[in-house]
Amino acid sequence: MKDCKRCLLRESAENDTFEAVRSKIDLLSEAEKAEDDLYRKRLEACRTCDHLISGICMKCGCYVEFRAAFRKMKCPNAADRKW
Ligand code: SF4
Repeated sequence: MKDCKRCLLRESAENDTFEAVRSKIDLLSEAEKAEDDLYRKRLEACRTCDHLISGICMKCGCYVEFRAAFRKMKCPNAADRKW
């Protein structure tokens, strides 16, 4: 994986890494999962954030495409929470 500032995983990782995350998201129940519109807005916010490197949030170490998929999750940056 090459380092890519403000890139999402799907843009910077090998396909199998992205597919592995995607398949874990697919296992979430509808109750756990953020709605599509909310998910897209969260990822748009991450793409404006200096803490995003190659799909990974440097504040928590999560793949943002995974973290944002959980309805109840929040951006981990308490000082400047973007979602
Ligand atoms: S700090 Fe928040 S907005 Fe920034 S990459 Fe992490 S989850 Fe996304």
